[in-house]
Amino acid sequence: MSKPKVAFYWCASCGGCEEAVIDLNEDLLTVADAVDIVFWPVALDFKKKDVEAMEDGSIAVSFINGAIRTSEQEEMVHLLRRKSGLVVAFGSCAHLGGIPGLANFHNKAEIFERVYKTVPTVTNPEGIYPQTETKVPEGTLTLPEFYDTVKTLDQTIDVDYYLPGCAPPPDLIMGAVQAILAGELPERGTVLAPDKALCDTCPLAEYKPEKLSMSQIKRPHEVLHDPKQCFLAEGIICLGPATRSGCGERCINAGMPCRGCFGPTREVKDLGAKALSSIASLIGIEEEEEMTEEELEKALDNIVDPAGLFFMYSLPSSVLRRRRIK
Ligand code: SF4
Ligand code: SF4
Repeated sequence: MSKPKVAFYWCASCGGCEEAVIDLNEDLLTVADAVDIVFWPVALDFKKKDVEAMEDGSIAVSFINGAIRTSEQEEMVHLLRRKSGLVVAFGSCAHLGGIPGLANFHNKAEIFERVYKTVPTVTNPEGIYPQTETKVPEGTLTLPEFYDTVKTLDQTIDVDYYLPGCAPPPDLIMGAVQAILAGELPERGTVLAPDKALCDTCPLAEYKPEKLSMSQIKRPHEVLHDPKQCFLAEGIICLGPATRSGCGERCINAGMPCRGCFGPTREVKDLGAKALSSIASLIGIEEEEEMTEEELEKALDNIVDPAGLFFMYSLPSSVLRRRRIK
């Protein structure tokens, strides 16, 4: 009997999701034994034309990581969608836009200006930018088009399932692979991780005071974190109340607050807005007295980059989606 065909593809991402597949360790051999990997540009020498030659729908599942920011990525995910029975958005960037999605605070013109002109390490006196077509004696060289706006995978093609995380942890990846192989998948559109907030599973939850108020906001490097204290009680913003669990509390266990890479639970529409409102509800009371406007402003001044903090992984999937630039 022929094995199910599987593809992996990499769009706008750091490569960590590809590493996460390798992090399956010996389980990777189990996966490789059970499936036929027919496309995985980072590891195997298959070409786009090999995918084009496949019958539509003949790939059982494509795991696609990274956000969509160029015409090449857009074209490849449309191709993989056509060829695949299932598409899984793999990791925060495909799921929510991720760190590359923070580019939506700028547009192409601003990014090119910075990257190709004003970065101190760049020398470009003629101000030359990459072109989608360049004529040379041998012919025409082409580059993909760089879009103004970074999109999530499901803003580009239909997505069947989501594996959240930066990067998704091995136990969730294996769980998803086993569910696909056994044909025991949940409802289409499901995020393949527990639908509970991180605070519900966090080892520091027992130290979270019932009545919590933040009169001061501190940045992680300003506090010697007590491993028996909830970050919020220390005045450090943690997005755990609005973030889906399932990561194994990786950041918390490493002494860092959650930044929301797993995205929201099912009932939350916009992770950044929810986190912002839950933090806002904690600020304003000091020793049972309402803080003055001046004290409030001083406390909020310590949130150096609020938009970048609350929407660190989720800007393209948020209601805001991008900064409006006139
Ligand atoms: S706010 Fe952060 S540190 Fe506190 S219980 Fe929730 S996830 Fe844990
Ligand atoms: S603690 Fe938060 S940011 Fe860190 S891995 Fe878990 S969900 Fe992602």
